[in-house]
Amino acid sequence: MSGAFKLVVVGGVAGGASAAARARRLSETAEIVVFERGPYVSFANCGLPYHVGGVIADRRKLLVQTPRSLRARFGLDVRVSTEVVRVDREAREVVVRSRDTGGEYRERYDALVLSPGAEPVRPPVRGVDDPRVMTLRNMEDMDRVIAGVQQAEGPALIVGGGYIGLEMAEALRHRGMGVVLVERLPQVMAVADAEMVAPLHDELRRNGVDLRLNASVDAFETTADGLVARLSDGSRVACGLALLAVGVRPETRLAREAGLAIGPSGGIQVDAQMRTSDPAIWAVGDAVEVKDLVRGVPALIPLAGPANRQGRIAADAIFGRPSRYTATQGTAIVKVFGLSFAMTGASEAALQRAGLGYRRVYVHPADHATYYPGAQTISLKLLFEPVDGRILGAQAVGAAGIDKRVDVIAMALRAGLTVYDLEEAELCYAPPFGSAKDPVNLAGFVAANVLRGDVELWEPEELASLRPDQALVDVRTRAEFAAGTIPGATNVPVDELRARLGELPREKELLLFCHSGLRSYVAARLLTQRGFRARNFSGGYERYEMWSGTAARAAAVSSDDGMLEAQALP
Ligand code: FAD
Repeated sequence: MSGAFKLVVVGGVAGGASAAARARRLSETAEIVVFERGPYVSFANCGLPYHVGGVIADRRKLLVQTPRSLRARFGLDVRVSTEVVRVDREAREVVVRSRDTGGEYRERYDALVLSPGAEPVRPPVRGVDDPRVMTLRNMEDMDRVIAGVQQAEGPALIVGGGYIGLEMAEALRHRGMGVVLVERLPQVMAVADAEMVAPLHDELRRNGVDLRLNASVDAFETTADGLVARLSDGSRVACGLALLAVGVRPETRLAREAGLAIGPSGGIQVDAQMRTSDPAIWAVGDAVEVKDLVRGVPALIPLAGPANRQGRIAADAIFGRPSRYTATQGTAIVKVFGLSFAMTGASEAALQRAGLGYRRVYVHPADHATYYPGAQTISLKLLFEPVDGRILGAQAVGAAGIDKRVDVIAMALRAGLTVYDLEEAELCYAPPFGSAKDPVNLAGFVAANVLRGDVELWEPEELASLRPDQALVDVRTRAEFAAGTIPGATNVPVDELRARLGELPREKELLLFCHSGLRSYVAARLLTQRGFRARNFSGGYERYEMWSGTAARAAAVSSDDGMLEAQALP
């Protein structure tokens, strides 16, 4: 080895820039070269939709660092518009090509970090190469979308209801464009459970998005009307531009051609220190395969947080520190107009597919004390191990306070905590911020009540086959009952229960519900102590409404239409 230790990094955005900056903090003497194919480094790819929508007005704000600032602060040799086209493992050299001149040269490395990211999938449909059919990954894509918007006559067609599709739907509505959003599944956010994202469908429609679920694009055609998309449901959509947001695929070409091991999920295989099958090469970010924390299986989970942390860990490993990356849990959030949806860990659907046992509870508390102005309902679903109560996943949707609840549960999940720990969690409280019993505590109480046997639950799927010896009882107020209830229910408000016990059929099992599951829990405790058989409906009428719309949509789709086809993770 001649000269200083030399680290070469491929890809200068999330994982690559993190690895390079961390490397410098660990070694003042190493030579660090970063190659970036595009003209920018360290730009805020997560911010792209918000510049399209005008919320981030100044484009320069997206350029978090520049080659010049990275040189000044970290002494990095950043070469943009330069693509690494080959890795010569034997010689420990990369072959790079300037995109400006086409000229090629070789660069030696002692350690190589690959952070090439993931590319947007372009489904192989006719007409997909039309320049008006775009994807969004980097600054240049964003500039193309903005130019397309300015020229477009007609609405934008967004294909795919993952988080990029949703953020772009909002962004383009902000710009005053008509938006048609086409999603192949009966729900947006394929990684989530259907009932938890049902409110996003209403929010999209309320904000003028023409949402077409259970539909995909079969072809793009150029007609006298301009660009026309032919959809699988037989309809045609004339649009000014189309944005494909149907998922991403890890960029593994360099790694494959260099003979590095690729994992079963299709990402570059790495060990806990992000080292590939070649001891001198590390890989991080969207291109690598990670272990799914809850299911323990290999997975592709392309998110900015893991990419940044992995970059740091790879640099630590290269400079002799024992940092380890354990697994990814998929903590993610998306804003859809006035609502936010967030999740961490496994969804119920993912647990079912993995054949893992679980229990689920739902709560619908306010984000802060209801007597303080502006309180908003949070719908929170908690999934947990049926015997020991270990947290397996959580999803929440609402207008406020979603991020902090899911973040707290994410931390608990990461630490291997249980629903009993959520009962005990001591969280910030003053009326503008929360409640003395935080939604996280409440979810813990409800889940722990179930595990301790204090209450038994009934599930909405049971409604399809109610037996004659079962009775549905709505324990909300008369006014709430009159405004809408589950078909077949009788109304006995919880506050009248003790006085009206004689009206309730002792020979029947009582399936209780209220608005959120809280009053009916009180009712269940009262009735079971007085000798009735009673079960509670976790999540109450609020959940029933989320569930019934979802069930109707799911029934409208044939069961073998490839519903679970891979989609971009949030
Ligand atoms: P990238 O950040 O994509 O960087 C890879 C870089 O490598 C690219 O710039 C590419 O040009 C370069 N490159 C590839 N091959 C070569 C080569 N051979 N030679 C030289 N350079 C090469 N995640 C979240 O967690 N939250 C969000 O809100 C969020 N929003 C997003 C919004 C959008 C529009 C997009 C596109 C992504 C978003 N993400 C979000 C995902 C997040 O940006 C990625 O998970 C993260 O950037 C991955 O980091 P990475 O280093 O693996 O890849």
